[in-house]
Amino acid sequence: MRQSNLFAPTLRETPAEAEIISHQLMLRAGMIRKSAAGVYTYLPLAQRVLRKIMTIVREEMDREDGQELALPIVQPAEIWKESGRWDVYGPEMFRLEDRHHREFCLGPTHEEIVTTIVKGDVRSYRDLPLRLYQIQNKYRDEIRPRFGLMRGREFIMKDLYSFDIDETGLEESYRAMYRAYTRVFSRCGLKFRPVEADSGAIGGNASQEFMVLAENGEALIVYCDHCDYAANIEKATSQVQVEAAGSVKELERVATPNQKTIEAVSDFLKVKPADTIKTLFYGTDSGYIAVLVRGDDQVNEIKLGNLVGGNKLYLAPPEEINQQFGLPVGFVGPVGLDAKITIYADNLVEEMHNAVVGANQEGYHLVNVEPLRDFPEVTYTNLRTVKPGEQCPHCQGRLHDARGIEVGQIFKLGTKYSKALGATFLDEQGKSQLIIMGCYGIGVSRTMAAAIEQHFDENGIKWPLAIAPFQVHVVSVSADQLPVAEDLYRQLNDAGVETLLDDRNERPGVKFKDADLIGIPVRITIGPKGLAQGEVEVKYRQTGAEERWTLAEVVTKVKEYLGSNL
Ligand code: ATP
Ligand code: MG
Repeated sequence: MRQSNLFAPTLRETPAEAEIISHQLMLRAGMIRKSAAGVYTYLPLAQRVLRKIMTIVREEMDREDGQELALPIVQPAEIWKESGRWDVYGPEMFRLEDRHHREFCLGPTHEEIVTTIVKGDVRSYRDLPLRLYQIQNKYRDEIRPRFGLMRGREFIMKDLYSFDIDETGLEESYRAMYRAYTRVFSRCGLKFRPVEADSGAIGGNASQEFMVLAENGEALIVYCDHCDYAANIEKATSQVQVEAAGSVKELERVATPNQKTIEAVSDFLKVKPADTIKTLFYGTDSGYIAVLVRGDDQVNEIKLGNLVGGNKLYLAPPEEINQQFGLPVGFVGPVGLDAKITIYADNLVEEMHNAVVGANQEGYHLVNVEPLRDFPEVTYTNLRTVKPGEQCPHCQGRLHDARGIEVGQIFKLGTKYSKALGATFLDEQGKSQLIIMGCYGIGVSRTMAAAIEQHFDENGIKWPLAIAPFQVHVVSVSADQLPVAEDLYRQLNDAGVETLLDDRNERPGVKFKDADLIGIPVRITIGPKGLAQGEVEVKYRQTGAEERWTLAEVVTKVKEYLGSNL
């Protein structure tokens, strides 16, 4: 490709609306342009990168017996109503009506439709297993589309669905996808980590996310410094040592005028926040619940959501609690609470002694609280968010935290969708059985952005070779060197090397700036000085290393560098 023809309008200035580096650099390198919030055009450079990622994804899916198909983006509401997700998906789903007022949506994911297809044509165990996938635009009306391609409302996803006759089959499919994902992200040149994940609204019971490690990642993960435990903070657990019980004392009410926060109360009473119990109220589908965690802990709302189910879950503001139950803001607690309010508590609360809680009376707290004695009607479960420094749930190691970008997720779904939609097969005994499913997604457009988050410097992108828009950038310093550059360009093209030739009539400074910005892995500069000695200057974008090659050896050297990427 000649750069004079390339539609890659580069920008000198960093666009103000772009907060993170991948978004800034993709705009500046002329890769993407915004059409609406979370909706982008992929210009030619981006399209080339996406195509490469998609090729890698296809190769690895095919290698694990995936079969590519294309499911419709426009999906009838009926199947979503059958699965029960028409309502669960809520405002994130783009909904539309046809001229006959029939309801449709733009697919945010494709479990329903693929299950319907399989159900229609799979009869017997002999037709299974199946691993069906597609690479296609997905539509989600995200509440906060942001960070460019990271969280789009229209984005590219590879989604594969596995259909097996039993749990063993599902396990095999799940492992196959784990292997495939590991190869996909390795081949893309990314540093990543599979972590245990919450399976969320999609259903199912086992799930892992593939996280690209990057400072700008939206996801918080923890990992053990000793074993291979790693988990999304939404899912993570830990072992916490609890102090031995002291002597049991009598429950006492103490005045704590104006001390409304955990910090204020613990300062005032000269105790540690960990000796207090935090009482929070949540609104749910079935009314208000109270949630207790140790004063130094945070409620993990994902864990809580999984526990209480339903569609609605929000932290009720104190004023609402005051209005509903006449409870005083800042002084609420579990002892003597209205029996209509179900209480859930984190496991650690059960082990507390001589704790402090609100007295449900303005200006007072209770001390010497023994949870089992003073508020026995409580459901204990794991509800807290783990903290770095705590002990790994599997070994003696310590947990550390890191930020990640979720580029893929794999789920064991089980029979959630086959049951809802009636997808069955006849087993060897001729008995009807539900198909066991799994689903597996890769955010293709997000992966491109994630690659930039890991590979950039102050001058621009540093593409990993396997997904770079071009492999070699030939830059002719001025018009005088153009004939030689053109010749080299032809030779490289003939050798199958994806080459961009900067043949533009621009100052060398502009050309080099653009080259750094676009980030092609090898830059070959043809300038007057080198050429006088029959040499070119070579610069590797990843390392910044420089070399000189003779004109005659360029093609051989490039081929050597590209290796299996040729
Ligand atoms: P997130 O938690 O980031 O909202 P998700 O868990 O809802 O994502 P999945 O349903 O697991 O997403 O989708 C599979 C993959 O698609 C994700 O791992 C992610 O890489 C990508 N993806 C999801 N939502 C978006 C989005 N809004 N923009 C770009 N990529 C996305
Ligand atoms: Mg996910």
